[in-house]
Amino acid sequence: MFILEYQLRGKESQFRAIDESIKTVQFVRNKCLRYWEDQKGIGQKDIYKYVTALRKEFSFVKDLNSTACQQACERTWTAILKFYTNCKKQIPGKKGYPKYSKRTRSVEFKKSGWKLNRNTKRITFTDGKNIGELKLIGSRDLFYFQQWQIQRVRIIRRVNNYFVQLILKLDPRDITPQLEPTKQCVAIDVGLKYFYADSNGETVECPKYYRKSEKRLNKLNRRKSKKFKKGQKQSKNYIKARKKYAKRHLKISRQREEFAKEKALRLIQSNDLVAYEDLKVKNLVRNKKLAKSINDVAWSLLRKWIEYFGLKYGRLTIAVPPHYTTSDCPSCGKRVKKSLSTRTHICDCGIPVLDRDYAGSLNILKKATSGHGGSWSDEILDLNAWGDSTSILIGSNTCQSKSDR
Ligand SMILES: [Zn+2]
Repeated sequence: MFILEYQLRGKESQFRAIDESIKTVQFVRNKCLRYWEDQKGIGQKDIYKYVTALRKEFSFVKDLNSTACQQACERTWTAILKFYTNCKKQIPGKKGYPKYSKRTRSVEFKKSGWKLNRNTKRITFTDGKNIGELKLIGSRDLFYFQQWQIQRVRIIRRVNNYFVQLILKLDPRDITPQLEPTKQCVAIDVGLKYFYADSNGETVECPKYYRKSEKRLNKLNRRKSKKFKKGQKQSKNYIKARKKYAKRHLKISRQREEFAKEKALRLIQSNDLVAYEDLKVKNLVRNKKLAKSINDVAWSLLRKWIEYFGLKYGRLTIAVPPHYTTSDCPSCGKRVKKSLSTRTHICDCGIPVLDRDYAGSLNILKKATSGHGGSWSDEILDLNAWGDSTSILIGSNTCQSKSDR
């Protein structure tokens, strides 16, 4: 799936109509959840029927495009299913009981309810909410895909602007020039001290602005909380403070995204294979000491972009199980236990003293390459052997089915 995003330009009344649509989406979602809670043991079909009934009962629900209604209901159903699966798997801790949404920010259409004019770069929403025609602001050309490839159209409200996302079904390799093989492999280890250390012995520092903007963010958050009045109507100053905080938040998340994107692209461009640990961010955060130093958000972003660019440019990306990658010796394989404060890897097999994260990345590379007979080079060059997806999760079913093929 590809997502193209454009800012929307239109009249104030049109944005109010968008707000109204988003409100309706929230109404449908919460109604569906309540229905599920009241009627124990209902299935997806029952919930669909319920939405049809809602459309008959409330005219403002009927005004919203039917696919958008359906989408709202599907969102709730996905949340319910996720909760069921978590219960079945008996995962420890919270099971993610579906919540009522208070701040829905988007409305999603499927194949109807909108019309795109690619010549004038305008989109028209045609349902009963009367959003009308809006101009798309953005540099991305609308002509490099076919209209039928648009699977979904999503309107999102963010702090003070409205955006539209076109969700396309494309084979990324159709539109991206393939890169020449580099015959290089790399593994990265998310560090405590660094953003990551790679198996070539290089490290990437955490960007300094993280700390700086974090401080500023906390300050804005405190300012916001001071103005909050429990159980009363909020003052103008509170709303102002909340907006400021939200704006800063958006800025930081964009900075993070840019940073991760840039690093991921560089890794993919200069290597045929990128290996990393299959870390569960949840496990990391549970360790409070670690959570502060590992920028878990940044790491999951980096992984997301590595996998994205890997697919886009036809490179292999491999997630290896994270067990013992920091303790094992990359040379002899002996388990050398380390505390969190131990910064180096020392082993009596004669391997020189290594930085802990560097040793970790060597182990990750070893795990990524040894599971497949030790020789990657031919397979790397023959990417077609891997089918559609070049993202591989070692030790999982995906990997099994790939090697069985
Ligand atoms: Zn050793």
